[in-house]
Order: sequence, then structure tokens, then C-alpha cells
Amino acid sequence: LVIPDWGGFCNQIEEMFEQCRDFKGGNVATYIPQLARVDPEFWAVSICTVDGQRRSWGDSMTPFCMQSVSKPFTYAIAVEELGADEVHHYVGQEPSGRLFNDICLDYNSRPHNPLINAGAIVIASLIRQKQCFSDRFDFTMQQYKRFAAQGFVGFNNAVFLSERETADRNYALSYYMREHKCFPPNAKLQETLDFYFQLCSIETNADTLAVMGATLANGGVCPLNGDRVVCNRACRDVLSLMYSCGMYDYSGQFAFRVGLPAKSGVSGDMIIVVPNVMAICIYSPRLDTLGNTVRGVKFAEALVECFNFHNYDSL
Ligand code: GLU
Repeated sequence: LVIPDWGGFCNQIEEMFEQCRDFKGGNVATYIPQLARVDPEFWAVSICTVDGQRRSWGDSMTPFCMQSVSKPFTYAIAVEELGADEVHHYVGQEPSGRLFNDICLDYNSRPHNPLINAGAIVIASLIRQKQCFSDRFDFTMQQYKRFAAQGFVGFNNAVFLSERETADRNYALSYYMREHKCFPPNAKLQETLDFYFQLCSIETNADTLAVMGATLANGGVCPLNGDRVVCNRACRDVLSLMYSCGMYDYSGQFAFRVGLPAKSGVSGDMIIVVPNVMAICIYSPRLDTLGNTVRGVKFAEALVECFNFHNYDSL
């Protein structure tokens, strides 16, 4: 077993879980009513190891929309389908140093990376390009479910409709990118954006999202059923980008202090991957000014205080 003293480990995690409950700073996202109305007290931590040991604390069955935590999975699916070279013909690997939805491109007139909005919208345009959008959505949902070993992966239509209503920035970004020829030749702008909003509106819970993360921790093979969802290379690439670009404008500090690949989203969800060991999913809707879940960041910092999971701990 990858964590031999599972009971002892879980006791320590539980203690951190209780301590982090006290952090009540930050605010829930308010740009759409579906997020503004969420109970700010929701608090969940779930763990799934690469050998399938699982444990959850708190509101781990409460559904939430994935928002930006969808981006690493969609990227991995695109790399699996098209190969890294083709995907990175369209999008870079550099932290942008700018807000996640900023209207800017890199020196090659490409989005900086697949984990900011510009990059994620372009990635959406690449998946199953030859199919109609209903089939492309179906395909991507099926792949998400494979990451989750067929756990709870749903779709929140109200979130989708709200996202589309309040998306001026994403429209502006997309027109700007179309001007700069960022999309493949036949991409349709409105449908690509809808697809991107739909992916942000995919619903899951902490218990299931930990399994999806554990598939990344396990090199692309789902630990619950042995299904190879994406190849090792796709997995390596997505973890590299999560390490450098996963936590909005806190990414550099997070890499420094925590030293683990992670991704957060505006619903207050977050995954932390300990490669070859496990994934942790955190859900707590209050966000700091950079858009990261407050308790999630505190929990990650407490985790590496207690265990030597930081990438450079064992030197
Ligand atoms: N859905 C939002 C957008 O595209 C934000 C996603 C996020 O950063 O979690 O603007």
C-alpha cells in the first residue's frame, strides 16, 4: 500500500480538516446567481490514493460545478486525442502573469497556457473537431466519467445559461483570438464558447473529483478500475502545467510553498495531486482576492507542514 498507516494518516488529515474549518475569510463568487447563492460554509476534503484507498470528510457529496478545474481534464483529453505537439501548436506552456481572463496573448499570438480562459477556449475548439457539437459534448462527458470510474459527473444547465449570459469577457477574448488566428480553420466561435461554458458547468462532488485527480496521480490510469483514460505523456503534461499555472496568480507562490500540481476553480473547488501517491479534492466556496478557495490554500499549506509531499522535500 502506498500509505501503509492509513488509519493514522486519516486521523492527521481529519485534524487539519477541523482546523481549516475556522478560516472564514474570503467571499463566494458573485458573477452568476448560481454561485452567489451557494452556502459559504460548505466544507469538504476527499482523498483517493493510486491504489484506491478513499476517505472523505464534510460535505463531500454536495454537488458543485467544476469551473476551471475542468480545464486540466479537458486539456488532457485533447492531448490524448491530438498529441502534445499538435495541441501546443495552438497554446503555450507559460504562466501568463496576468488575470485568468485577461485579453492578452503570448509573443507568438497564442494563449499562454491551457489553464487560463483563452487557452481553455482554444482547447475546446480542438476536441473532436470533425464531429457535431452534441457528439463532442457527449464524448468529453464520457471521458470525464472515465476519469471518475463512472462516479457522479453531471451537468448544471442553470450554471451554463448564466455563464453564457455574463460572458462579455470571454466573447471579447474569443473575437480577439479569432482576429489573431488562434483557432483551427473551421472552428465556430459561438459553438466553441458554448462548449467551453458547458465544460465549466459540469457538476461533480468532492468524493468523485478526488478519484478524477487520482487518475492524474496514477499516470492516467483510473485507480478504481484500471482503465487507462489518457497516456502517460498527457498526464505528465497536465501535471507540469498545473504545477506552474494551476492556481491563478498565486501559482508561483503555491509552487514555492506547497510544491505540488494543483488546480482551483471559482466555485471553490480544488484538486491537489501528489504524483504516484494520491489526489486530494477540496471544496469550500469562499475565495480569496485571486480566486482561490481560502480554506483550500490553507489546507494545502498545512498538508506540506505535516507531511513531506513538497516536490523538493526529500532532497
Ligand atoms: N467560468 C468562468 C469564466 O470562464 C471562470 C472559471 C474559473 O476560473 O473557475 O470566466
